[in-house]
Amino acid sequence: MAKDYDEIIEREIGALGNEPEQFGKLRSMEGLDEKTREEVNDFRALTDKMRSTDAVAEERTISNGWIPIDRSEMGIRSMFYPSDWEFRVKPATVMAIRNWASIDEENLAAVNNVMNEIVKTCVSIHSEYGKVSWEKINSWDRFWFILKVQQYTFSRGENKIEFEDECNECGETLMYTLKPETLFYEFPDDQVVENCWDSEKFCWNINPQDYGLPNKPVKLYTPTIGKDNMLIQWVYSQNQAGKNIDETFIKFLPYMLERAPKDVQVLDRQVKELKRTFDTWDTDMFLFMDEVVRNITINPSEKLRQKCEHCESEVTSNVRFPNGIKRLFVVQGKHSKFGSR
Ligand SMILES: [Zn+2]
Repeated sequence: MAKDYDEIIEREIGALGNEPEQFGKLRSMEGLDEKTREEVNDFRALTDKMRSTDAVAEERTISNGWIPIDRSEMGIRSMFYPSDWEFRVKPATVMAIRNWASIDEENLAAVNNVMNEIVKTCVSIHSEYGKVSWEKINSWDRFWFILKVQQYTFSRGENKIEFEDECNECGETLMYTLKPETLFYEFPDDQVVENCWDSEKFCWNINPQDYGLPNKPVKLYTPTIGKDNMLIQWVYSQNQAGKNIDETFIKFLPYMLERAPKDVQVLDRQVKELKRTFDTWDTDMFLFMDEVVRNITINPSEKLRQKCEHCESEVTSNVRFPNGIKRLFVVQGKHSKFGSR
């Protein structure tokens, strides 16, 4: 039963690392939150003791201000947000860094929570009507924002995540650096965007009749952090209640659901309604919709893109965390290293 839950989270986080041993399966569903909480508490007690002097020093050297993000840095992904939205980022707080340091990297739910914590505390969105929730950030941008926060947190370039790989053009070894600007995204075809993206209502208008099917038009939406979280909770509650989950349907849900309501029961009603729509699709419509979703997805593919210093080609490599995902926000303190772990 835990499988569905794993897959949803894995889709969220698992794709970011290609070292399966560091993104292993959730070990148990029961008592997960309690266990995580215990671990965090233990670790906090320990880090409080060990890092108190470092933390004070860090707090002073890190600037506390919000830094506006130049939306052009997001490239095409910027068009999936209203034009009046302003994104700001601030360096991670010592508290967030501590939480990050206590990640059990094998616990996908915990990794998911800590990643969200960084976005929640360090990214803010303002529109002309006021503050916008961080949960409105599109799922594929979450890691990009985390890397932005990381960059501002360690503004002197300390704590770089680097790894070596062979250039797939010339075979020479080159050093990849994990940075927001080196994340490699796959985009929908220009034609698909032009024909189907509604830049006023922020949804995809799909008309099956344009593709030779009799079905009525369908609206699809971009997956967001908020929707993902609500859906993870919903899947969890279904599992707890021993209900069967249609895994194929789950794949479509983040696109079919317009926005996640705060209330799980309201969400449950909406999901049931969408399921009824989903069940009306015959094989042809299903195959068509499957193709649609594949084509409108912006994957934060687990790839980095960089220019090879030897042959000048643009080459890609899979994202790797040589010392685990922890290293993103945890620096070795001023003390000499205690052991090899
Ligand atoms: Zn090369």
